[in-house]
This record gives sequence, structure tokens and C-alpha cells, in this order.
Amino acid sequence: MAYDVIVVGGGPAGSTAATVVAMRGHRVLLLEKETFPRYQIGESLLPSTVHGLCGLLGVADEVERAGFTLKRGGTFRWGSNPEPWQFSFAMSPRVPEPQSTAFQVERSRFDEILMRNAAANGVEVRENCAVREVLEDGDRCTGVRYVDADGTTHTARARHVVDASGNTSRIHRTLGDRIHSDFFRNLAVFGYFAGGARLPEPQRGNIFCAAFDAGWLWYIPLRDNLTSVGAVVSPELRSLVQGDPREAWTNLIAACPEVAAKLEGVPTSTEPPYDQVRVRKDYSYWKEKFWAPGMVLVGDAACFVDPVLSSGVHLATYGALLAARSINSCLDGELAEETAFAEFESRYRHEYSLFYKFLISFYDMHRDEGSYFWSAKKLTEVDAAETAAFAELVGGLASGDMLAELRTAAADLGRSVEELAVATDGTNPLYSSRVVGETFQEGRNLQDEALHGPAADHRGSGLVVSKDGLSWERS
Ligand code: FAD
Repeated sequence: MAYDVIVVGGGPAGSTAATVVAMRGHRVLLLEKETFPRYQIGESLLPSTVHGLCGLLGVADEVERAGFTLKRGGTFRWGSNPEPWQFSFAMSPRVPEPQSTAFQVERSRFDEILMRNAAANGVEVRENCAVREVLEDGDRCTGVRYVDADGTTHTARARHVVDASGNTSRIHRTLGDRIHSDFFRNLAVFGYFAGGARLPEPQRGNIFCAAFDAGWLWYIPLRDNLTSVGAVVSPELRSLVQGDPREAWTNLIAACPEVAAKLEGVPTSTEPPYDQVRVRKDYSYWKEKFWAPGMVLVGDAACFVDPVLSSGVHLATYGALLAARSINSCLDGELAEETAFAEFESRYRHEYSLFYKFLISFYDMHRDEGSYFWSAKKLTEVDAAETAAFAELVGGLASGDMLAELRTAAADLGRSVEELAVATDGTNPLYSSRVVGETFQEGRNLQDEALHGPAADHRGSGLVVSKDGLSWERS
């Protein structure tokens, strides 16, 4: 059977790519190995996803009606300030209500909304179908081989295959190595409580992040009777979670008084799938290449930075939107493949590098929130107050095309990276121990170059988003 596009994986990245291509009238097959709803971590969303992306997909009202916890920003016990401080997405005057809000979501429910919406837009969605192999003709990917629930093997061909199969992706081997960050090598151990104290209004739905000696903890209010709590620790503490993860998780929470106090007397959740304590490691990486003829990577299959600023679903869906625009431009005969995918890759790496570079400064615990806000402004070069620059960056809005009125950001942290080297002095346990002193001084190290790629500056390409948001057009 021949399709225009085959999407592998029905997470937020896969559903987004599939829907945006189908909205242009193209024939799309989405293959998902699980049956939805399925569990996934990554519950704290950004305004760019909730308003920009979900609006474009036509699913914003349904997400609004789902009753997820309203998130206005974040509360942090972080950096040199001993007192908790907060930010609100509304700190940017360019992001008015209600766009200055997001949701804390149970991913099983959120992801299912996006996947069912793909089907409603004409995508042929097949669950319980695991892609095992990529078909190639010369150097071009031409389709996939997959196995259905009965164990029957099928072949499907398409002009483009989108790998959106997440962090366990195995089908991208033609696209070079997965490059692991030298800066972020942490691991996470996480689970759920059947309740927990809430911050006072209007911060009640905020994500709360608290740094402590071993690393930091997230505290995400999902429902009155459900709180997601995760510990992020440095690789030196790997042995801690190699024993009993639940015991490690419990001990790490006990070691962080700000979070422990919110959970006093609250039982852990016994409700599946929230009754388990899970571990994730080696999650900060990017692929050497994001595309090759007939194949494009989006979401965790392509890259992920770090959980602290909740950028994962934003990067996944934004990258998927960029890929879908490039695919549409090719299928419609508007752009040559090389041009279309160079645009995709350069914009995607640009957004990734904004978070990556900002997070390097954010993990410097010697600084206070004023200094973090300053870094955001310096990095994005936004013509606004430092607090507004921070709110736009951590709201996923700095690249501008999720909300039309927002500006396109620029990133050149060459100088600030050097300044940071002086400021951090390599003492943060969450940085890989050998790295900070060496690579900060270099300013532009090899990782940095690999991250940006040679064509990272898309601003001179002459391509802009089409009026319907579904492809590129010449300016
Ligand atoms: P996924 O959501 O993983 O979806 C991939 C899909 O592909 C899955 O449904 C899988 O079943 C399917 N699949 C896999 N292989 C195959 C195959 N061979 N054939 C068919 N289907 C296949 N992000 C946030 O935005 N906010 C957060 O607060 C946050 N916290 C995080 C905390 C931790 C500790 C970590 C590690 C990540 C966190 N993230 C967070 C990141 C977030 O989890 C991911 O970025 C996001 O889920 C990526 O979406 P995706 O669609 O690329 O992949």
C-alpha cells in the first residue's frame, strides 16, 4: 500500500506531524506500537503547545475541556536565593491571557486526544503495530515493515517516513550517531503521590522545582489526588537508583525539606499506571543528522535536552510541525527536498539550542533569578524586559511562529558562555564533573558546532510560514 507519508509513533510528535500533513489533504499512515491510552512522562506543558500548537491542530477546545490543572508558571527554590521565587508566563506583555497559561497533563489522556484528532483529520491510525525495519532503495528511505497485533508482518511504502518513535527509537540508524550532551548527564527517578499540598493561588497549578544537595526535585500537581514527584540527580549517584528505585526515590524526597513538607502523611499512589517508580537516564542528546532522503526525525527520536523547564513536548511538537511544513512543501511541489528540510533542521536546532544554552546558565546555582532573567534576554536578544524575555523563552515562544505576534529569536551565546565559565567554576554536581571548566572556556566547542550544524541560521533563507501555517512560502 502506498502513502504520501508514514509516521512511526503516536506520541505528541507523531500525532502533530501526521495531522498537519493530513490537513493539506495528503495520505498519511500512523503506526503506533502500543494501544492508547499509554503511560508517558512529561506532564508539564508550555503555552506554545497548549495555545499555538493545539490551536493549529484544532484541538485547543477539547484540551481545555479535559479538566487538566491550569499552569500559570513555575515556582522555584533554585539558585542563590534561599527563598522560593516564581515566574508567570504572563510576565511577557506580548503574551496576553489566556495564551499565558498552559496545563499539567496526564500524558495518557493528552496524547490520546492528539492521536484521535489525527484520525479525525483523515490519518489512518493503526495501534498495536510496531515498526521493525526501514525499507530503502539506494540511499532513499521508501517505507517500513511492521508487525501487527496478530504477529503478521506488513510492508507499507511512502514518499516520506517520519520517525517519531521517541527516546527508544531504533529505526534511525541511517542518520548518524546519537550525540549525548557533555553538560547534562543526569538521571531521573520518579513516581506519584495520591495528593499533596498545593501552592496558594494564583500559583496553585505551578510546577514546583526545588534544588537540594543531590540534585533537584519536580513537584507537579496533576489532580487533587495525584502529584507527580521526580528526582533528578547527577550521574555520580547512579548507584543509588540501581538498587531499589522506590527506596532511592523515597530517600531523595526526604532529603529535600521543601518537597517533603508538602507530602507529609500523603500516601503514594496505588492507581495504575501511577503505582510504579520509574527511572530514566541518558536522555540529553541530539542526533547527528535530523533528516536523510525520505526520512525525517522529530521529537525524542531527534533530540531532548532536560526536564527542568518542561521543554520536551514543546520541542517534540514544534519539530514535528516544522517537519510537516517541509513535507507539505515538497509534496505540493513548492520546494526542493534539500531546501525544505534544511529549513526544518535549522529552525529545529535553533529552538533546541535556545533551551540547551539557557539551561547551562540555569543550572548554575550561584546565580539568582535576576541573573537567570538577564541570561534569557541576552540569549534571545528580545526587545523587552528581562522578565518578559525569560517568560517567552520558557513558554516556548521565543522562536515566534507558534504565536504570530511574537518575534523570531536570535541566539549567539559565544560571549556569555565564557562569562558563565567564570561564574560557575564547575561546582554544580549536576554538570558532568570534567566538563564545565574545560568546555566553557572554549566557547565554541565541537558539541556546540554539532548542535548548531552548519546551517543553523534560518533567518536568511527567505522562507516564511504560509498563511495557513501548514507549509513554507517565499517571503
Ligand atoms: P513519545 O511521547 O515517547 O512517543 C513515541 C511513541 O512512539 C510512543 O507512543 C511509542 O509507543 C511509539 N513507538 C516507539 N517505537 C515504535 C515502533 N517501533 N513502532 C511504532 N511505534 C513506536 N516534557 C515536557 O514537556 N514536560 C515535562 O515536564 C517533561 N518531563 C520529563 C521528565 C523526564 C525525566 C524526561 C526523561 C522527559 C521529560 N519530558 C518532559 C520530555 C517528554 O517526555 C518527551 O520529550 C516527549 O514525550 C516526546 O514526545 P514524542 O512524541 O517524541 O515521544
